Amino acid sequence: MTDKKELFRSLPKVDDILEKEKIKEALEYLPREIIMESIRDTLEKFRFDISNNIKKEDLYKNIENISQIIIKSSKDKIKPKLKKLINATGTVIHTNLGRSLISKEIMEKVIETSSNYSNLEYDLKEGKRGSRYSHIEDIICRITGAEASLVVNNNASAVMLILSSLAKKKEVIVSRGELVEIGGSFRIPDVMKESGAHLVDVGTTNKTHEFDYEREINEETGLLLKVHTSNYKILGFTESVDLESLVEIGRKNNIPVVEDIGSGVLIDLSKYGLSYEPTVQESIEKGVDIVSFSGDKLLGGPQAGIIVGKKNLIEKMKKNQLTRALRVDKMTLAALELTLREYLDEGKAIKNIETLKMLTMNIEEIENKAKKLYDLLINIKNIKIQIKDDFSQVGGGSLPLEQIKTKVIIIKSLDEKISKVEENLRNLNPPIVGRIKNDELYIDLRTVREDEIQVISEGIKWAINNYRGE
Ligand SMILES: *Cc1c(COP(=O)(O)O)cnc(C)c1O
Repeated sequence: MTDKKELFRSLPKVDDILEKEKIKEALEYLPREIIMESIRDTLEKFRFDISNNIKKEDLYKNIENISQIIIKSSKDKIKPKLKKLINATGTVIHTNLGRSLISKEIMEKVIETSSNYSNLEYDLKEGKRGSRYSHIEDIICRITGAEASLVVNNNASAVMLILSSLAKKKEVIVSRGELVEIGGSFRIPDVMKESGAHLVDVGTTNKTHEFDYEREINEETGLLLKVHTSNYKILGFTESVDLESLVEIGRKNNIPVVEDIGSGVLIDLSKYGLSYEPTVQESIEKGVDIVSFSGDKLLGGPQAGIIVGKKNLIEKMKKNQLTRALRVDKMTLAALELTLREYLDEGKAIKNIETLKMLTMNIEEIENKAKKLYDLLINIKNIKIQIKDDFSQVGGGSLPLEQIKTKVIIIKSLDEKISKVEENLRNLNPPIVGRIKNDELYIDLRTVREDEIQVISEGIKWAINNYRGE
């Protein structure tokens, strides 16, 4: 039996560790605080090992390598935590994985305006203070056909700002079929409470009629709200009041009609093989007073909330103190402006905006990528692979029922511990995220770029062998 006391005594002292040549070197390029923390963590781990009866030889070997262990731990501690990964799930607007991608071309220009001073709030013509929203207002109005616009942090804050500016202490009428919850705890009734507006829900879950709205209108009514049920569908015996009729009711009663359209679709996607989603332009054309939508869902830009509509109402929002709190950063404004500029030419938008490009990618292109990956994987032992038809998701709570045809590589581990392989893939650098279905790993090539195929094949080889080596 090993004498634990003796082992505990054999652990080096902090001062002695600090005198080691490698540690002294490391102190030149790593923060002292971080190294001290790693020393304490490492000694703690060694004590834990002794208590758990580690073999004497193993402990001595670890002590011999203590400098390397401490340096590795210190380097890990200062590595950035937010990093790129490979999305092999096929879900294009994956909220957990960063939603829409911004193209390299756009990011280069964002770097230029953000790593230099810019005319963010400076009017170059007049030589005096300008508005940060002015750069983007024209293009938003040109594309959507609206009179005025405002950009805030995300669509959740857009809805909050609209309610707070137009309906504080007033009643807001919403159909019971539209009291949505969006992932990450955005719930219409809760947002309403927070904004100071009073919710008046009308109709039933499946049916709401014009008279349901009309019955509730009184002097206290601040606005009529329509929320796009972007992440679910009510099917069967249903009825809702369409936008034109709601606008009509608003006009008659002199009450603004607001629509939270969710995803900011600016192109008729049915032309490209997807289901029709109502566009922002269409809502403006139908006479809605205010429309709000996300920048990073189907629009394919940075995280932002875009509000468009009647000038007098937008002016009220600009004066609200909340606007200052929800103000967008210059990087967002730059990326959004450049993304919107692509929409001046629909063909360019479909080709250059990553989200739209991936959603409309033709099946041959996906199949080619699948074949390339297949060829790279074919010689790996202990797995069975095949190329199969499957469906990708749009994601981001958009087009929830859409099934987009795709090609996947399905990997079956002959040891049937695919969850371990999947975990290994997640812990690579860059991590690779696929999906598991029926004890098999699915790699959907829709969201995988050409230059990622080689990386994935090496990752899978490693993930399988690492599992086998354990
Ligand atoms: C996604 C969504 C929101 C929230 O938008 P964010 O940009 O994620 O804040 C609000 N309303 C609807 C209808 C949505 O689909």
